[in-house]
Amino acid sequence: MFTNLGAKIPKGALLVGPPGTGKTLLAKAMAGESNVPFLSISGSDFIEMFVGVGPARVRDLFSQARKMAPCIVFIDEIDAVGRARGKGGFGGGNDERENTLNQLLVEMDGFDTQKGVVVLAGTNRADILDSALLRPGRFDRQINIDNPDIKGRFEIFQVHLKGLRLSDPIEAIAQRMASLTPGFSGADIANICNEAALIAARQRAKSVAEKHFELAVDRVIGGLEKKNKVMSMEEKKTVAYHEAGHAVAGWFLEHADPLLKVSIVPRGKAALGYAQYLPKDLSLHTQDQLNDMMCMALGGRAAEEIFFKSVTTGASDDLNRVSKIAYTQIAQMGMSKKIGQVSFPSEGDSQFYKPYSDETAKLIDDEVRDLIEQMYTRTKGLLLEHREKVETVGELLLSKEVITTKDVVEAIGERPFEMPTSYKEITESAWQRDESTSVMADIPP
Ligand code: ZN
Repeated sequence: MFTNLGAKIPKGALLVGPPGTGKTLLAKAMAGESNVPFLSISGSDFIEMFVGVGPARVRDLFSQARKMAPCIVFIDEIDAVGRARGKGGFGGGNDERENTLNQLLVEMDGFDTQKGVVVLAGTNRADILDSALLRPGRFDRQINIDNPDIKGRFEIFQVHLKGLRLSDPIEAIAQRMASLTPGFSGADIANICNEAALIAARQRAKSVAEKHFELAVDRVIGGLEKKNKVMSMEEKKTVAYHEAGHAVAGWFLEHADPLLKVSIVPRGKAALGYAQYLPKDLSLHTQDQLNDMMCMALGGRAAEEIFFKSVTTGASDDLNRVSKIAYTQIAQMGMSKKIGQVSFPSEGDSQFYKPYSDETAKLIDDEVRDLIEQMYTRTKGLLLEHREKVETVGELLLSKEVITTKDVVEAIGERPFEMPTSYKEITESAWQRDESTSVMADIPP
């Protein structure tokens, strides 16, 4: 069709996105739409212990594709073979991978576009791919596939809910669930729907209801609930106050993500309870937002220090997050006056080589420590100011184990800042839909 008009079909496109966002599905759908055969292979299939197998597999794949043309070839996890070649010189044993990559490049150059073989490749690390792969005539187009936003999740839920026997109208459940699952991928959503059906079946329910979906979310987020894990009262209290510290800090920080739900029920993956907050569907953050995010993450440890005079190891995840945000601000976003408007690669990118002097490295470390110290002081001040509220929320968590926004509003009053738009959308829609059953319906917009 394109060639009739004299247009050249693009040879290759890269589908870039985190795992579970449906890159394979999209490639398959493209083949289905255009009614052509679909060949799929994973990049890791090329890599074998035996020398010469990889390049041979690439040759086979493309000769098969040429026979079946027009067709679509999909190479998933292309980074397994397509990582940048020979950087740093510490490779060792990568020859097989490089030979495979070279063969792939040769094959892609070898067929002319009129034949109608389109090669798609999936990856979540487009940044580490060899630049030769991205040159014109190879994978010169990038299609970004991200985790869906609330509207996307609403639509995905509707697709996966179709096969289930539901207690409520499909739109109602899809809307409610879309609001509870920020940051979830399409695969996670499929997982939740399946899990909800299993839970309903186990409870011998006649249809799958909202409570089953909520249990399914908890399960997908936190791994299986550990009923038999014993936590001493003292431990439980520490965890409750730690989580209350996060919640109250977020409540009084204008730019922090508002809380959806906090639980201190021990679970497999998240050893000591978890909190679910509503991240804005945003990729641009201001410095104020980043600072508030840091303070909120520090809220747990600050609460421990205020109420127990000692800190536990439970905050290591938080501190990890805080250091990451601080390093990003200072070394990559040019947000530090002393370092200036520079952006250095993040630590993962160059393991052996830092593109700055030792003095700069020290300056960055000092600035990061200063910033974190500053934010910790700010957080502690904030929590001391609202000391009773932390206590109220902490005690509430101790007695109920799971609390939501509604409980927090009842316990310590409204959040003094306007909720972000996406959050308002959710609460407003919940408000209109069902006032009696929806937890969030009780928060005035
Ligand atoms: Zn924490």
